[in-house]
Amino acid sequence: MVARGAVAQTGARGAAAELYDQIGQFLTAQRLSPDPVNYVFAHNVLSQPGSPLAKAVASLTDGGIRLTVKDIEELGVETTAGSAAETMMEAKAEAARMVARTQMQLEGFVDLASDLQVDTADFGRDLAASAEAIRTTLDTEEVVRLTAALAERVQAAEARLEATTREAAHLRAELEEARDNARRDPLTDLPNRRAFEETFAERMALGQGLWLAVCDIDHFKSVNDRFGHAVGDRVLKAIGTAVAEQCDGQFVARYGGEEFIVLFSNLNADQVYEIMNRAREHVADKRYKLRETDAPLGAVTLSAGITEATCGDTARMVFQRADRLLYLAKSDGRNCVRIG
Ligand code: GH3
Ligand code: MG
Ligand code: MG
Repeated sequence: MVARGAVAQTGARGAAAELYDQIGQFLTAQRLSPDPVNYVFAHNVLSQPGSPLAKAVASLTDGGIRLTVKDIEELGVETTAGSAAETMMEAKAEAARMVARTQMQLEGFVDLASDLQVDTADFGRDLAASAEAIRTTLDTEEVVRLTAALAERVQAAEARLEATTREAAHLRAELEEARDNARRDPLTDLPNRRAFEETFAERMALGQGLWLAVCDIDHFKSVNDRFGHAVGDRVLKAIGTAVAEQCDGQFVARYGGEEFIVLFSNLNADQVYEIMNRAREHVADKRYKLRETDAPLGAVTLSAGITEATCGDTARMVFQRADRLLYLAKSDGRNCVRIG
């Protein structure tokens, strides 16, 4: 009995040690610091392999892609796997509601179109009858009455058609807005990762020569730690705007967290490096201040990895290569650009 208990205890300890190792490996592979938030996240993912959270992480990291801090925040950073699943369910429910509304409006249009078709046929028949009555009658009052009745019907049909056209335009604008929102990052107002993936695929299909830069703000966690998340948000926005301005004419997006990407089209390696390095210098030279007190925040810098997209590359593949170069730039001391 004693021996069996000891074995059971060793087994339980073995499982705990294994989970602990897995968490360590996960955090290292994802280049996440072992802070409590990331640790809890990794624990939730690895201790419940079949959970919606674990599946979401598996799909996000498919192909060796690293999770961004934003991913973790979106999946429920300080919460449990259950609430991450709830967040996803809510997003899906919202999308389903939008589809249902669109479907209802479309069905309304179909009904209206068939009503108008019937109306037009009736109207044509009544018009012919009225024309005949006008031709044969000498009663001018009757002619006036018939003409007025016809004019009224034309007006009513016009009004209904106009209302429908307005409704259709409204629906189209709403759909365009929803489409745009799904591709835009609300904090920086830059395109997001999804927009990048689509743009990359489109430009590859057009056969454009593409280079991708992955930029990451250096030691950004310390900005949040020292000045708070709200100030961090403002710095993030300012840097996003600065990168977009410096890389004017290129596609600049917020990939997630404190990472931005720049997709350069039809430029050579020297040109791409120069633009990115100038953007880096510009960001490093800026003097960030606290809006409230004018107190300096100190320098905020970024590092970047740049690589060329080659035939057959997916957005993920090219991102991974640029990300590896970014990692080298970080190891080189940060505030620098690596191209390869
Ligand atoms: P490194 O130079 O190695 O990139 O260090 P780092 O501190 O920038 O990297 P780390 O990945 O440890 O931390 C990234 C930080 O970025 C932590 C996270 O809270 C912060 N962050 C990510 N997204 C946002 C955001 O939308 N707003 C704010 N304020 N902070 C964010
Ligand atoms: Mg980062
Ligand atoms: Mg960083």
